[in-house]
Amino acid sequence: MKPPPFAYHAPTDLDEAVGLLAEAGEQGKILAGGQSLIPLLNMRLASPRVVVDINGVAGLDGIGTDSGGVRVGALVRHSQLEADTAAAEAVPLLRQGLRLVAHPVIRNRGTTVGSIAHADPAGEMPAVLALLDGAVEVRGPSGSRTVPAAAFTTGPMETALAPGEIAVAARFPQPAPGTGTAFVEIARRHGDYALCGAAAALTLDADGRVTAARCCLISAAPVPLVVDLTPDLSGTRALPGELDEAAAAAAERTDPEDDIHASAGYRRHLARVLTGRALARAAAASPAATA
Ligand code: FAD
Repeated sequence: MKPPPFAYHAPTDLDEAVGLLAEAGEQGKILAGGQSLIPLLNMRLASPRVVVDINGVAGLDGIGTDSGGVRVGALVRHSQLEADTAAAEAVPLLRQGLRLVAHPVIRNRGTTVGSIAHADPAGEMPAVLALLDGAVEVRGPSGSRTVPAAAFTTGPMETALAPGEIAVAARFPQPAPGTGTAFVEIARRHGDYALCGAAAALTLDADGRVTAARCCLISAAPVPLVVDLTPDLSGTRALPGELDEAAAAAAERTDPEDDIHASAGYRRHLARVLTGRALARAAAASPAATA
């Protein structure tokens, strides 16, 4: 199908982009990688009157890594971030999650920040941001602000972005020392959105005991579902039975939907199994476990 008609702008400057978007208000949409927006336009599931293509805007394509974590600009492609060794060393969950996003051709064009702004409940990168307690840097007509991940995704395909605002970067904090991370999921076909998925971060002390544990489930609730499992696992040695119990507690918090791909009950079952696997892999990946 063909998209509905719209006015197309290709600004080269961030302020110009913000101005065009602000002028369009509710009728404006940003075009980044286009891997979600273009299909939505072609299927006529979105019909913005104005499309602001940010691909020519200078200064949005950088990856910055320091002791605080990784800052990803709005035009960084999934594949660019996946290939970035410094980012993967600082925040291993980035590469672990990115490998599960769609197919390489889609990752070559799709942006990580676009994925976060798109806010699909099955998306991996909103979950990575939420699990790590990251943040989104936003620029709008009234200036800049930073929105914590927990407040950024407000519903399925809904975010805290106001009309006229652009997500200019996402910040992924470096996990605490002793933390291992993992991301596992089940999809009907390789590259499809996951029927369910679980990311986990688990911190062990030098003695091999858990000091912190969190998971984030996708396709299990309207937004990425972060569950703090520290009260369940603190002081344990992350043994299989302990992890299974914690995974069951996390699955009880899910609110999955029935759809043509899977029933809610099956998704809840997957949530339990996948959380258990993600926690076990995260524990094994902890520097304290491998020391
Ligand atoms: P676009 O398509 O350009 O935009 C998407 C939405 O976000 C639009 O509403 C746009 O206005 C808004 N937006 C984009 N950038 C910004 C910004 N900087 N500030 C404010 N709003 C912005 N994704 C997954 O996570 N997991 C998958 O398994 C997966 N599988 C896929 C399979 C297929 C076949 C396809 C076509 C896509 C799949 N995707 C998947 C989506 C892919 O990851 C997209 O790249 C991503 O969702 C959107 O990024 P984009 O840069 O392409 O954004």
